[in-house]
Amino acid sequence: TVRIGVLTSGGDAQGMNAAVRAVVRAGIQAGAEVFGIHEGWQGAVDGGDQIRRLEWDDVGNVLARGGTVIGTARCAAFRERDGRKRAALNLITHGIDRIIVIGGDGSLTGTDRLREEWPAFVAELADAGEITAEQAERHAQLVIAGLVGSIDNDMVGTDMTIGTDSALHRITEAIDAISSTAASHQRSFVVEVMGRHCGYLAVMSAIAGAADYVLIPESPPADDWKQHMSHVLRQSRRAGRRTSIVVIAEGTQDRQGNPITPEDVRVVLADEMGEDARVTILGHVQRGGTPSAYDRWMATMLGHAAVGEVLRGDREPQLVAVRGNRPTFMPLMEAVAATRRVASLIEEGRYDEAMAARGRSFV
Ligand code: ADP
Repeated sequence: TVRIGVLTSGGDAQGMNAAVRAVVRAGIQAGAEVFGIHEGWQGAVDGGDQIRRLEWDDVGNVLARGGTVIGTARCAAFRERDGRKRAALNLITHGIDRIIVIGGDGSLTGTDRLREEWPAFVAELADAGEITAEQAERHAQLVIAGLVGSIDNDMVGTDMTIGTDSALHRITEAIDAISSTAASHQRSFVVEVMGRHCGYLAVMSAIAGAADYVLIPESPPADDWKQHMSHVLRQSRRAGRRTSIVVIAEGTQDRQGNPITPEDVRVVLADEMGEDARVTILGHVQRGGTPSAYDRWMATMLGHAAVGEVLRGDREPQLVAVRGNRPTFMPLMEAVAATRRVASLIEEGRYDEAMAARGRSFV
């Protein structure tokens, strides 16, 4: 029987459980056995009962839960060759040679490194007598597929990443709550949302929450942004709005590359408008709570598609992604490389090139 390992790695994101559940059930339905690798790559390095068979019922009642029930971690040992070799030994001992990983670009990169080194590990482990010749032959290759779990929606090659839509819901609820208190007192609020290199959450929540102004990393404001923002906010007050809400993504910079912080925005509101604005940094609230229907649906669809991909296992590793509401595939490391390129282009201030490289029509 084919054995598939599934793990969640790096930052947690709502909808990861839906993906794990889909992998388990689609795997079983296809006649495979599925093993949960607990606490990200740490579980593979540690082995033992951190690698556990998951049956159909083991993933009951997880669809509506936030976070990830099989745990996630950052694993320093997996960054070292020795650690990855130990992970290979533990996987082979469990008869696992297909991996579906749900994580960010770091986790996907680490997983691909293990895949590249796998044949060498197999040879070394067989030479050392740690695995049998038969195991070496049976598990000569590692087949992998990657799903992106990230609330930032920062991956090239997919319209959405798992967790983003749920985070957007959390932010929108928070802005709604802030708006109601702001309206009572005619106050101004500055809300910082996540998105180091991607303003998706900021733009979408600003639209959904009827904010007055939004600042994002990919499209820094013009040099006179302070005057412009004050002008826009003053106009909307004059038009009768009782609140002013500015949404800012955490990685925002000005055109010279200097960070723009929520505090900078607060100072502008105080200096230019005499407003006593309050700053709210949403932080981990954005990762919390129940996954949205969209995240549950998308992660289920992609988990199912990933099982098909690793069972076929006849091409280079793929990112299992969503475009136009359908599962799509793109070479995994091409997607990771392009994502990292977008991030560095933004950091270098090459915004138009960054947006072209991202290849999406929205942020
Ligand atoms: P994310 O997957 O969310 O981008 P990290 O970058 O922290 O998060 O990566 C998560 C884990 O993936 C790391 O703790 C490490 O175990 C593994 N990892 C990341 N980058 C590499 C790498 N270049 N080589 C090997 N393992 C890596």
